[in-house]
Amino acid sequence: MKIYNTLSKSKEEFVPLEEGKVKMYVCGPTVYNFIHIGNARPMIVFDTVRRYFEYKGYDVNYVSNFTDVDDKIIKKAIEEGVTAEEISKRYIAECKKDMEGLNVKPATKHPLATEEICGMVDMIQSLIDKGYAYEKNGTVYYRTRKFKDYGKLSHKNLDDLQSGGRSLLVTGEDEKEDPLDFVLWKPKKEGEPAWESPWSDGRPGWHIECSEMSKKYLGEQIDIHAGGEDLIFPHHENEIAQSEAANGKEFAKYWMHNGFLNIDNRKMSKSLGNFFTVREISEKYDLQVLRFFMLSAHYRSPLNFSAELMEAAKNGLNRIVTAAENLKFLMGSAKTVTMTEEERQKYEASSQYAASFEKAMDDDFNTADAIAAVFDYVKYINTNVGQDSSKEFLERLYGRLSTLTDVLGIIVDRKEEMLDADIEALIEERQAARKEKNFARADAIREELLAKGIILEDTREGVKWKRA
Ligand code: AMP
Ligand code: ZN
Repeated sequence: MKIYNTLSKSKEEFVPLEEGKVKMYVCGPTVYNFIHIGNARPMIVFDTVRRYFEYKGYDVNYVSNFTDVDDKIIKKAIEEGVTAEEISKRYIAECKKDMEGLNVKPATKHPLATEEICGMVDMIQSLIDKGYAYEKNGTVYYRTRKFKDYGKLSHKNLDDLQSGGRSLLVTGEDEKEDPLDFVLWKPKKEGEPAWESPWSDGRPGWHIECSEMSKKYLGEQIDIHAGGEDLIFPHHENEIAQSEAANGKEFAKYWMHNGFLNIDNRKMSKSLGNFFTVREISEKYDLQVLRFFMLSAHYRSPLNFSAELMEAAKNGLNRIVTAAENLKFLMGSAKTVTMTEEERQKYEASSQYAASFEKAMDDDFNTADAIAAVFDYVKYINTNVGQDSSKEFLERLYGRLSTLTDVLGIIVDRKEEMLDADIEALIEERQAARKEKNFARADAIREELLAKGIILEDTREGVKWKRA
């Protein structure tokens, strides 16, 4: 299995640190608004990477943070006259809803920066003790030139950085020993959330957050560290400098970066204002279509968002879902149970599509080619099944299809599409209807949910539900 490593700028064979296990950390979003579909790209891509490792039998420990303290969060809180915590809590909850819609698995752990400050303070202290950091007027800076490998990820040269150094100087930071030095801890300004530290009441810099959370939940060395390509410099470069200086070991073996989601060939971003939120897209499309669209390109290539490409993704996804539905339909009316010899041979022959799928995924997660293999398999299914097929043959073909689509995080069984949040909203509406003695509506909602495989149970503690 080969992974393109930004460190070496080449595809390398994946060798885990510990046999059968993968430790991966994916930089998560800063939560001050609904996520946009550009932010969704790394979520979908690295969730697919995780799913493929799991398919291959690895035990994956997947950690992805929420950056819940940041200038933008504070600004938004001031605008709304609420606390920064209220803003970050709200948008973490909204982000999790979007992730569910995109069928992105919850991480093994989603740490919050604000809950890990103690560890960050300890890490900064150890960097000071080792001579890699220094304090000036309550601010702590990283002594960039002291870390000999600085630039190894972004392939930047310190002297080139130095000549552009003026732009690295931010107002109030002219006390730095060197323009290349970056902030590990900054003192609070009036009205900002702050934590105690030996240097000042303040908050950590963004880069130290990930170094600490990765160490705490995955250990000093991890297999994969990932994020969008805009994070290579300075975020990931700085994370390497911090972690490797503090721990004295190589931080991550493989660095993976997704390309940008563009619109009119420009990066989609909040600051440019050229973005669609995942929520907006969900009003027009099933989010499965968005997921399928993202996986139709290689994760390192730029991807241009357009209505035409979304329509193409919708049609492609439909072909797969229709084949699955047809198999289910035939299973329901199959006359014979066990496979014939001919069917057994056909089923065995169809393993070539799973092999092509794996070959594509083994080559740096080439989901575009993996999807092509799924399409070929769908074509094979459609031409080889019919009224006379045995139930076993149909079930096996279906099993293989759903195994492959599950790696891509695509749901072919429509019943599973109902989201927890939608179920809960309907339950709430049913409660309200009952309160207003509108029993007809309340019963209709119960029926509607039942038809989608959701069973309601009225208990003393309230309404409970389960999937049939
Ligand atoms: P942020 O909230 O800006 O820190 O971004 C969260 C994640 O989304 C990071 O991994 C970014 O690299 C990624 N990201 C942001 N915008 C885009 C985009 N237009 N295309 C792809 N990835 C993006
Ligand atoms: Zn990070």
